[in-house]
Amino acid sequence: MLYYSTNKTAVLASLEEAVIKGLASDKGLFMPERINTLPDSFFDKICSLSFQEIAYEVANAFFGEDVEADKLKEIVYDTLSFDTPIVKVKDNIYSLELYHGPTLAFKDVGARFMARLLGYFISKEAQKETVNVLVATSGDTGSAVANGFLGVSGINVFVLYPKGKVSPIQECQFTTLGKNITSLEIDGTFDDCQALVKAAFMDVELNAKHKLTSANSINVARFLPQAFYYFYAYAQIRKIEKDKKIVMCVPSGNFGNITAGLFGKRMGLAINHFIASNNSNDIFYQYLQTGEYNPRPSVSTLANAMDVGDPSNFARVIDLYKNSIEAIRKDISGAKYSDIQINNAIKACYKETGYLLDPHGACGYLALENELKADEVGIFLETAHPAKFLETVEKSIGEKITIPEKLQAFMKGTKKSIALSKEYSTFKAYLMKI
Ligand SMILES: *Cc1c(COP(=O)(O)O)cnc(C)c1O
Repeated sequence: MLYYSTNKTAVLASLEEAVIKGLASDKGLFMPERINTLPDSFFDKICSLSFQEIAYEVANAFFGEDVEADKLKEIVYDTLSFDTPIVKVKDNIYSLELYHGPTLAFKDVGARFMARLLGYFISKEAQKETVNVLVATSGDTGSAVANGFLGVSGINVFVLYPKGKVSPIQECQFTTLGKNITSLEIDGTFDDCQALVKAAFMDVELNAKHKLTSANSINVARFLPQAFYYFYAYAQIRKIEKDKKIVMCVPSGNFGNITAGLFGKRMGLAINHFIASNNSNDIFYQYLQTGEYNPRPSVSTLANAMDVGDPSNFARVIDLYKNSIEAIRKDISGAKYSDIQINNAIKACYKETGYLLDPHGACGYLALENELKADEVGIFLETAHPAKFLETVEKSIGEKITIPEKLQAFMKGTKKSIALSKEYSTFKAYLMKI
């Protein structure tokens, strides 16, 4: 399968090129040239298949031409070493819990898949040159990428994070790993970290010395595998709710997660409707209302992984719907919630149902509460474990909560990072020496 750029001027790329490059040369996002539909026979038996079996069928539709069957199966099965169950919250509202992976957030799925696919491509090359993955993080991406790539041979990961601006729980999830993961504590902001990474990719001298790549959500190998759990959620809900129309509600920031769901629908998955739920960074919501896309600087909210002022995967949504806002509105509606509403939802849902939401999932839950029709059943994506947002959640419900073993284990590790200034020359000198 070949991949075209949403900007339409770059030449078509192979999967290997798209995964290694991340972004097309015309700065567009890679899109698969075809979206294969899955046969009726698959949907007829989907309820009796395991998560891994379902995911393999979906992966095969995208990557089957480029990766041998047994290798692809190994990558999929290895990626999905944890479950993504749906849990009933109350009548007609279910939570798709995507936080049972190593770093307790949905990004584990895409990051683990990408690491394994990249590792496969490197191992095939005659000249096995180490690939250096550079990733700037404001918290969650760094941990998912670092843990996803941990121990994958042929790859070194450098996580750049802003000193003092990520939570202690987030910081220990990438600074305690060691092995092929190096943490760089930058004396600056997240934007400074991102600027350093961008400058490195454009640096001719540096690229002549090292093979560099990025692992953010624009990479096809990170975003497409997120389609897996939409199919599995469908299989689970169809066992419980046989007739109702299915609505998927996705707490959205860069729109990689929801775009993977939209791909699933194109592949034949019977999801009736999607809701993109925003926090106060409501650029997409406004776009649906006005037809105009006006990116603007992000503002900080309680659901901080959705604090995005110019969603990077918007270009993919536009491309998928051939720039027709009518077509987009038919499949996706929007919602937006303030910090006060997020806080109240965490508290009210816990009191009413006993179910604990994280601030991102709370946006999803709220939209279903407000928008669901009588003939519909709704599933919101619970994108991270509430304990990752300990302070917010405990304040909302007025109780202490238990921190899962997995998180506690990270917190016991020894933090190791290299302090660097935000000057590019310092960063470059560091990379030139490795
Ligand atoms: C990244 C993230 C999101 C937003 O996902 P996108 O694919 O960027 O829309 C939502 N919730 C959590 C917890 C995240 O880490």
